[in-house]
Amino acid sequence: MNDQQKKEYIANRGRYCPYCGSSELSVIAGDYHSTGQYYNAECDDCHKKWCEVYTLTDVEVDEE
Ligand SMILES: [Zn+2]
Repeated sequence: MNDQQKKEYIANRGRYCPYCGSSELSVIAGDYHSTGQYYNAECDDCHKKWCEVYTLTDVEVDEE
């Protein structure tokens, strides 16, 4: 996966395979690392595998 494919994958919120563009993806929660929560993704069409990394980006406080 090159940088351009990565950017497009993130821009599409991980809904499409970065290799073939399929929306038939299987995503399973993996381990939590210091760099973020990992998810293991696999394309059901071209069967390529990759990891998604999720990090907490912001917190908003509900003022009452
Ligand atoms: Zn694919």
